[in-house]
Amino acid sequence: MTTVVNCPTCGKKVVWGPQAKFRPFCSERCKQIDMGAWAAEKYTIPAESPDDPSRDAPLDPTDR
Ligand SMILES: [Zn+2]
Repeated sequence: MTTVVNCPTCGKKVVWGPQAKFRPFCSERCKQIDMGAWAAEKYTIPAESPDDPSRDAPLDPTDR
């Protein structure tokens, strides 16, 4: 019996089981993205422009 859920971040199918460390997310990255999403809502920083592209993707240090 296999339970499959959809990753809340990217919608990819994730087999729910002991090997799915990041369930219901498909990966650590998607988990962090989702955590970041709610954290951003919870801890809104009024001084920052949400549309500023230079501050985009703080979750990926390998990006620069
Ligand atoms: Zn995902």
